[in-house]
Amino acid sequence: MSSLVFSPELNVDLHCHSTVSDGVLAPAAVAQRAHAQGVDVWALTDHDEVGGIVAAREAATDLGMDYVTGLEISVTWANKTIHIVGLNIDETNPDLLAGLVKTRSGRQRRAEDMAADLARVGIPNCYAGALKYVGNPDLISRSHFARYLVEIGVCEDVSGVFKKYLADGKPGFVPHRWATLSEAVGWIRGAGGVAVVAHPGRYDLTPLAFDAFFNEFKDLGGKAIEVVTGSHTVDQYDEYARIANRYGFMASRGSDFHAPDENLPDLGQLPALAKDLTPVWHSWIK
Ligand code: AMP
Ligand code: MN
Ligand code: MN
Ligand code: MN
Repeated sequence: MSSLVFSPELNVDLHCHSTVSDGVLAPAAVAQRAHAQGVDVWALTDHDEVGGIVAAREAATDLGMDYVTGLEISVTWANKTIHIVGLNIDETNPDLLAGLVKTRSGRQRRAEDMAADLARVGIPNCYAGALKYVGNPDLISRSHFARYLVEIGVCEDVSGVFKKYLADGKPGFVPHRWATLSEAVGWIRGAGGVAVVAHPGRYDLTPLAFDAFFNEFKDLGGKAIEVVTGSHTVDQYDEYARIANRYGFMASRGSDFHAPDENLPDLGQLPALAKDLTPVWHSWIK
């Protein structure tokens, strides 16, 4: 829980990844980088994992940053993958932990299937190749495959690999069933946390489906959406600010940092939230 007094100048970054999921820096190194980039309030939000939290909290506290416990849960809603960030959770909550074990459990089989698909289009040995980049054996992800495909020269960068091979409908994409929206929001709320829709601008939903999704999320007790995120364009900052106000959601800000060379912006390097939004951190920083 925070002892900080809220100030509009705070640099808040509530979304990023470490080697415990698909980032390339260990939790303490992400903390150091966040601090060096001027972040005051920081959450590590590894995919489907809380295993980095103890190290992240210790490093953040040593550096004098305000630490928020977090994670990012993979959800399947209407056959699409949606990510839900949980903030200010009790990471020892047994129902949350059991839910995360279940959510992670299909990743290895999925990775083997992805490798078989990639072999069929002429790229062999991707499972072993991806494993070289994996920091947590329970958390093999598409990002690890993407790094290997860049290494062997199949594409120039990670985003090119996703476009050509790993996005929905491409030859290395294997459909997967993650947690339900109700489970993810329930685990986060049960652990005392706030549920936040991660990077809504990335989902391929019609306006009607988005409306159904936001209403369902709200009915389940979801409280916030990411507005300023490294995954949004400048136009989407405005679009999702309007949506936050329309549905009565608080707004979050986070870089979604994974690796120094892979995605801009760096930790903390984002514009502030618009003044007419209610920052999600107001729910625990008074
Ligand atoms: P997974 O959980 O294995 O499906 O992997 C999802 C991760 O892949 C996301 O969290 C991102 O880190 C990464 N990712 C997804 N789409 C893209 C993209 N178009 N460009 C770069 N990274 C992506
Ligand atoms: Mn990721
Ligand atoms: Mn995400
Ligand atoms: Mn993320």
